[in-house]
Amino acid sequence: MWWDKKVQCNKCNQQVPKDQIRADLKGNTWVCETCYQILKEKREAAKFVPEKKVEKSEPLKKFMCTQCKYSFESRKLGKLCPFCGRANTVSKIDGSLPW
Ligand SMILES: [Zn+2]
Ligand SMILES: [Zn+2]
Repeated sequence: MWWDKKVQCNKCNQQVPKDQIRADLKGNTWVCETCYQILKEKREAAKFVPEKKVEKSEPLKKFMCTQCKYSFESRKLGKLCPFCGRANTVSKIDGSLPW
C-alpha cells in the first residue's frame, strides 16, 4: 500500500517510512523526523540573531566617574571606573554634562 512506501530524506538520505517523513520548513523537500527537528532548532536559534544585532547597535551612553571626573562612553554601566579603577563611582550622564 502507498503508506508502506519508504521515502528518502533529502537531508540525510535515509529511507524512512512515509509517516515519518515531513515537508521541510520551506515546504519544498522531504526530510525525516530527525532532520526536521534539527532544522527547526536551527531556525529557532537563527531567530535570536537579529535581537543580538539590535543590542549591539544600541547607542553609546555617557558615563562619568564621580571620583576622578573621568567621563567615557559605553553601552553598559560598568561597576569599575576604567580610569581610576574605583568601584561604584560611575554614574550615567543624561544629556549635557552637569558642570
Ligand atoms: Zn533525515
Ligand atoms: Zn575614576
